[in-house]
Amino acid sequence: MNKSPLARLAALVLSCAALAAAQVDAQAATITIVNQNAPGIGFNDPTPAAPIGGNTGTTLGQQRLIAFQHAADIWGATLTSNVPIRIGASFVPLSCTESSAVLGSAGANEIWSDFPNAPRAATWYPSALASKLAGVDVSTPGEPHIIARFNSRLGLFPDCLPGPGFYLGLDNNAGEALDLVTVLLHEMAHGLGFQTFTDDETGAEILDLPSVWDHYLVDNRTERLWVDMTPEQRVASAISGNGLSWNGRIVTAAVPAVLDPRSRMTVFGKVAGRASGDYQVGDASFGPPLGRRPVKGQLMPVIDQPDGSGLACAPLNKHNAWAVRGNIALVSRGTCAFVDKARNVQAAGAIGMVVTDNAPGEPTGMSGSDPSIRIPSVRITQEAGVTLRAALQARSRTRSGVFASLSVYRHRLAGADNRMRALMYTPTTNAPGSSVSHYTTDAKPNQLMEPAINSDLTHTVTPPRDLTYPLLQDIGW
Ligand SMILES: [Zn+2]
Repeated sequence: MNKSPLARLAALVLSCAALAAAQVDAQAATITIVNQNAPGIGFNDPTPAAPIGGNTGTTLGQQRLIAFQHAADIWGATLTSNVPIRIGASFVPLSCTESSAVLGSAGANEIWSDFPNAPRAATWYPSALASKLAGVDVSTPGEPHIIARFNSRLGLFPDCLPGPGFYLGLDNNAGEALDLVTVLLHEMAHGLGFQTFTDDETGAEILDLPSVWDHYLVDNRTERLWVDMTPEQRVASAISGNGLSWNGRIVTAAVPAVLDPRSRMTVFGKVAGRASGDYQVGDASFGPPLGRRPVKGQLMPVIDQPDGSGLACAPLNKHNAWAVRGNIALVSRGTCAFVDKARNVQAAGAIGMVVTDNAPGEPTGMSGSDPSIRIPSVRITQEAGVTLRAALQARSRTRSGVFASLSVYRHRLAGADNRMRALMYTPTTNAPGSSVSHYTTDAKPNQLMEPAINSDLTHTVTPPRDLTYPLLQDIGW
């Protein structure tokens, strides 16, 4: 049996003491917290706190512990294992700025290969999963299975995302705050095995052994698995944009029930020329989602800047209002919020809005909320915007002859590849700690295991809402 403590780069290899394999029955797992904070801080912080959202603790530390146990119980009721899982946890200062913060980090404390009952030989498993599969605790005596750290300064200091900070209630009612139970569920999933131990920046495996995770990662253009790739091929797939999918049977079976159809913009019309065709779009969190029934109209640009672009950050003037009335408004990103642009073009009579990016990159979503917005909006790349504007040169004041249709694909899902497998997070610039070991940010609805926590997440880790547990099942849970 091989063991590697992840805290050290030079992993130790210990010889295996033969372990008696116990019968593994299906029973809920017990997850306990090992409080690693010193007296007076973190989970022991004595600052008085008023009970909130079902959390009855009366100090900050108590409330953190109660929220932690609540999340642990959700995972415990979902998983099965005869071996109690211990999570070494602490609230400590983690990196943050005025505008962003690391909420938490977690992972397996030890990894093991070739333990009794190991489903795959010569493959690393996280400690908690190895123990479940072996039927006995394989971890080093005294060592927790999972190490988890959470940001103790979040929201409490001006240099650490000042604001409401963590919401400690248990009722998923965080409002503008960050829901701690959601963050805990996310971090615990990493510790349970939602991670690769292979280095996604160098492609190097620990001691030349793959992680169980790597048996399920597939390059969706070559259909080659991570375990069968060279380190260079792994590095390339890790920054491939949308080139890496999860090839596990249980996730793939759940994908159609969990993910919504992918949004679609099609441009057509006699004068559309080379602008004709389908465009990749980012969705808006405001306004109605795109649906099967298309919203169709002529594309008409708003022009309110000296360079001929249009921001639509103010109520539209007469000429722009004539142009967009009954049509789909084309505006540029920047200067004001997306909802301000949508409100202004809607007030002028537009039936939809297309926002062109003001910087190169993949199409991403548009945040914001305003219940008064009733028209659909999408975001397209800067490059696509240049193509469309060129096709709109010959328009009159009220007609362009270039039509756009906003709808959804019948057989493509948001966050899945063309074979309906879940896409992983592989941005074209490697994001250390985020790339590969998360689902894509394109998933609709947002998934717990995306690299950032979204406000619409629930405390659900199973289908039909979420794909986290199916992935853990694929690797052996
Ligand atoms: Zn994460």
